Amino acid sequence: MSKSCSSVTLSLRCREISSSMLDYLDGSLPPEEAAMIEEHMRLCPDCACFKATYVATTDLASKAFSRALTETQRALLCTKLRDALRSA
Ligand SMILES: [Zn+2]
Repeated sequence: MSKSCSSVTLSLRCREISSSMLDYLDGSLPPEEAAMIEEHMRLCPDCACFKATYVATTDLASKAFSRALTETQRALLCTKLRDALRSA
């Protein structure tokens, strides 16, 4: 058994997962895409870890505002996070 993680054929690559993570957590992805991300995270510890980090980060960010974000603030935060992820 020399089968490594990287030999698993993944329907979405990690980079695509990371760029879709915000939409995934937002619930704005089509169900089939969300399902693909969930499936990918089951196979890919890196992306599962990324999601956990991402959730923790956005949770901290929202706490930093110390009250519920308005839709505008939330959209702005999401845009900044998305830009940061895409340029990573
Ligand atoms: Zn991955």
